[in-house]
Amino acid sequence: MFTDQVVVVTGGAKGIGKAVAGEFRKVGAHVCIIDLLPNDYFVGDVADQSVLETFARKVIEDYGHVDHLINNALPLMKGIDACSYEEFNYALRVGLTAPFYLTKLFAPYFAPGGSIVNISSSRDRMSQPQTESYTAAKGGISALTHALAVSLAGRVRVNSISPGWIDTDYTVYEGPDAFQQPAGRVGNPMDIANMVLYLCSDKAGFITGENICIDGGMTRQMIYHNNFGWTLQGGNT
Ligand code: NAD
Repeated sequence: MFTDQVVVVTGGAKGIGKAVAGEFRKVGAHVCIIDLLPNDYFVGDVADQSVLETFARKVIEDYGHVDHLINNALPLMKGIDACSYEEFNYALRVGLTAPFYLTKLFAPYFAPGGSIVNISSSRDRMSQPQTESYTAAKGGISALTHALAVSLAGRVRVNSISPGWIDTDYTVYEGPDAFQQPAGRVGNPMDIANMVLYLCSDKAGFITGENICIDGGMTRQMIYHNNFGWTLQGGNT
């Protein structure tokens, strides 16, 4: 189904993005990665407007079109106490502005059946302390998803995935680390890559503007102190 299709993956040199890139390659796609880390296509910072323009020009010169865009590069996580104005804006440039601008640059070049998958986070709906730059970027990309789905209606489907705890080293956790998730384990990059490929496939042709949370059920359980084994130690002091 993906043979000779052109797939752009930001942050594709490591972690979830690397798994996504690998799965698309296995089924015959041409994968164009942009990452700060060394990779076989393009090294660059997605926070930089001119880098995005150079990268998009190269993809179109090389292939003439795009089938799927996976916005995955990891934004900076810093909190209200330590995060500077510049750092907050940098997180938004990586996690929100780059997905917007790449979509804009590639919009005229999407092939029929094209789609975009934005990698958000379950932190788009819940938070730990001192995570503002990341959480704001993730809330933004989840909302950007439905806005783009409507603007690009009939041309490109746009969906997002909100992962929970995904161990990118494929470590197998046991005990409470695993069982705190109703699914009984920590996630791994394939849990996300499988959904990315599904959302990009014809089987998902009636899904657009949607967010799929893949977190082993973590955001679906209600927690109260001293109920069902959950105990708060200390508190927000
Ligand atoms: P990772 O650190 O393993 O990989 C992230 C990749 O993004 C790296 O290759 C890095 O070089 C690249 N990158 C970072 N900043 C960049 C920039 N400015 N320009 C170009 N490339 C850049 O991270 P991961 O865990 O695989 O995360 C991938 C995505 O999944 C991120 O958007 C992250 O927020 C999301 N996510 C991850 C988890 C998790 O538990 N791992 C949970 C929720 C959401």
